[in-house]
Amino acid sequence: MRHKQLLFNPGPVTLTKRVRRALAQGDCCHREVEFAHLTREVLAGLESVYGSASHVAIMISGSGTCAVEAMLTSLAPRSTTTLVVANGVYGERMASMLEAQGKPVSRLDGDWLRGIDLQTVENRLRQDEEITHVASVHHETTTGRLNDIDGLGRLCRNLDRHLLLDAVSSFGAEEIRFADWNLAALAGTANKCLHGAPGVSFVLAQRALMDDGVSQANSVYLDLYRYHSTQQETGFSPFTPAVHSVFALQAALDELRQSGGWAARQSIYSARAAEVTTNLQASGVITLLPEGSSSCVLTAYRLPAGLTYDHLHGQLKKEDIVIYAGQGTLGTGIFRISCMGDIDERDMQRLTSALTQVMEAAKQ
Ligand SMILES: *Cc1c(COP(=O)(O)O)cnc(C)c1O
Repeated sequence: MRHKQLLFNPGPVTLTKRVRRALAQGDCCHREVEFAHLTREVLAGLESVYGSASHVAIMISGSGTCAVEAMLTSLAPRSTTTLVVANGVYGERMASMLEAQGKPVSRLDGDWLRGIDLQTVENRLRQDEEITHVASVHHETTTGRLNDIDGLGRLCRNLDRHLLLDAVSSFGAEEIRFADWNLAALAGTANKCLHGAPGVSFVLAQRALMDDGVSQANSVYLDLYRYHSTQQETGFSPFTPAVHSVFALQAALDELRQSGGWAARQSIYSARAAEVTTNLQASGVITLLPEGSSSCVLTAYRLPAGLTYDHLHGQLKKEDIVIYAGQGTLGTGIFRISCMGDIDERDMQRLTSALTQVMEAAKQ
């Protein structure tokens, strides 16, 4: 029997049988009451992942980028400045979105290989009273770095600024502290750490902000206030949702709950990442970032001399294993391995032995 393809890219992930079955269940009209019940259940499920009663979930159909852009267009102010603290592709993309929306934005584009410089952020916030919001990325998937959002968030709380967070590749597996970080909102997606299927994404926003705030949106489809009012009142969405992906997300959230929640997932991912790193180090491969800087979700490794990404990728693909390339300026020098999804011990062995084979062959 041909074995299943294993996805070690940062989403979409290898699905469980149950989530896959949920995708294939009977047809359902999104204007029927059953679907409204389902929507409400999924919203409650998203809110309960971190038990964040202060924040309300809003679901939108589209990839993670859709949720980030909806969060920024709906909540970043038109008349005061949002400071974007970036150290990778996704942080810089948040700044591009605000620029495209024609909103006042101030950028702190940091070195991709370094963490956020909190002192520089603090100086900027103290100098510029026009800045009311800070936008940043929790897990910067470009390099695998888990940014110090605990430090940034506490700074936002102390200096009374609102934090808008891209948590697309961390929600469900890394710690998120809603109150301590002065978190106005975060964006997440179904098909990364939650192990759902692609098609739906979501924002968790302060309840008071959604109930009493005024939409800052320069968009109709991405205006979260439209979704919030109908999803809260009736369970329906203003536009046709990705129905099957919502069924899959319900199953995935149930599995997350049953398997011990985000903290259990964090330890599973960490163990998988440690296994890959130890194995690669034995072949002389080093991580892109210093030890202790990477998220549990993804680790980036330097390609050894003489080995191209295309060759490495091709050899693994022959074994039905998919890994991920670098992005932007890191496009040619690294490869990335993510540990999300329905992966068991034997799958991990398939990955590590295939990696060892390619690495050892490259030495000869
Ligand atoms: C994956 C990801 C996104 C969104 O990507 P999509 O391809 O739109 O799902 C946004 N931010 C981060 C940090 C990501 O890892």
